[in-house]
Amino acid sequence: MPNNFIQNSDGKNSVLRQAIIAKFVKEGSDSIADISREIGVSIPTVTKLVGELIDEGIIEEIGKLGTSGGRRPSIYGLNPRAGYFVGVEVRAHHISMAITDFKGEICDYQEDIPFAVEKTESSFKALCDFLKDNIGKAGFDRSKILAYGFNFSGRVNSETGYCFSYFISEGRAVCDILRDELDAEVYVENDSRAMTYGEYICGAGNNEKNVLFLNVTWGLGMGMIIDGKLSYGKSGFSGEIGHFPLLNNDQICQCGKIGCLETGASGSAAHRILMEKLAEGRASILSETLEKNGVISLEDIICAVKEEDVLTIEVIEEIGRTLGRALAGLINLFNPELVIIGGKLSATKDYLLLPIKSAVQKHSLNLVNKDTSIKFSKLGKKCGPIGSCMLSRSKLFGLL
Ligand SMILES: [Zn+2]
Repeated sequence: MPNNFIQNSDGKNSVLRQAIIAKFVKEGSDSIADISREIGVSIPTVTKLVGELIDEGIIEEIGKLGTSGGRRPSIYGLNPRAGYFVGVEVRAHHISMAITDFKGEICDYQEDIPFAVEKTESSFKALCDFLKDNIGKAGFDRSKILAYGFNFSGRVNSETGYCFSYFISEGRAVCDILRDELDAEVYVENDSRAMTYGEYICGAGNNEKNVLFLNVTWGLGMGMIIDGKLSYGKSGFSGEIGHFPLLNNDQICQCGKIGCLETGASGSAAHRILMEKLAEGRASILSETLEKNGVISLEDIICAVKEEDVLTIEVIEEIGRTLGRALAGLINLFNPELVIIGGKLSATKDYLLLPIKSAVQKHSLNLVNKDTSIKFSKLGKKCGPIGSCMLSRSKLFGLL
C-alpha cells in the first residue's frame, strides 16, 4: 500500500482513509453524508478526512447533488491524476500492456509487443527493464505507478504469487521477482480471470452479480463472478472448465487426460477437426495455405471463416454446439445473469454464437436459461491488460 495514500495522517485514521478511497474505487462518486452512513463514522470526521484527501490530490469535488434550491451537498470522486495502474498480459511470444488512471480510464494501450518471456529469473528481470523503458517512453512517471497487474495463462496462485506455466524455483515466486524489480506493488493472476474482471468492470458487464466469462482461444478457460465476487477456489484454480471431462472422444488433452471439454470446444479443437477434414479430402481455401506453409494457424482459421469458407464454418459450428452443451450445464449450475464469450475464437462472431445459443436452448432447463443473456466480449483483446489494471487497483485498496 503506498504510504502517502493511506498512512499520511495519524495511524488511527489510516483505516478510515482506506475505507473512503475504497468506496470511491467501488462506486465512482459519493457525498459526505453517504460515506458517513456507509462506513459508520461521523460527518465531521469524514469531512476532515475528505478535506485531507483533496489537499493531497487523491480525490476531488466533481459536482453538486440535486437541482432544487437550498444548499446543495458536494459530490466527490477520485482524482484521475492521483496515480496510475499498469496491466500486462504475458503470452508465449508477445506481451500487451495497458495503463489506466486512478479512475480506471485507459491512458495507454499497446498490443502484441514482441517479447518472449522464459522460465528464468533473468528473463523476468529483462521483462521489467523493458516495461520500465516502455512506461517512460509512453510519457508516464514511474513513481506515480501505484501497482502492476500481470496475467499469465495456466494455473496461477495469486495469493502465493506462483505461476505454474512460468515456474522458476520453489523458493522464488514470479510475483516476488517482479515486485523487487519494479519496486512497487505487484499482483499476478490467471489470464481468464483477469479478462473476466476487465469485462465485468469496464466491458460487457452492467452491474450483474453472477457472470461467467468463457475464454475461447487455443485452449478454453473461464472466469466466474459469483454474488458480485470474483471466484478463486482454494488456490486460485477455479474455473478450469477446459479440463471438465465431458467428452467421449478419446482425444488426449494438453493436461494429459482424455476427453476434456477443451479437446472438443477450443481453438486447438477447431484446428484438429479441420486437419482431419482436410485429410479426408474435403475442399477448403485453407488446403492451399497448408500446402504452402506446411501449417495452419488459429489466425488462418479465423480469416477463413471471415472469408466464408464453408468447411471452416462447419468446424466452428461444431465447436459452438459442443461449447453450448457444456454451457447449458454451467447455466443450470450457476444460474448466471450474463455469459460473456471472449478469446480469439469470438472473432468468428455469429458462426460460433448461434450454435452456442441453440445448444443452450436445447440442453439447459428452460426456466433457468430465461435468466441468462449471452453476449460477446466488449473489450476484445484489451480485456486482459485492462482487467489486470482493474484487479491491481481493487487489490491495492482491499476490495478483492
Ligand atoms: Zn485437460
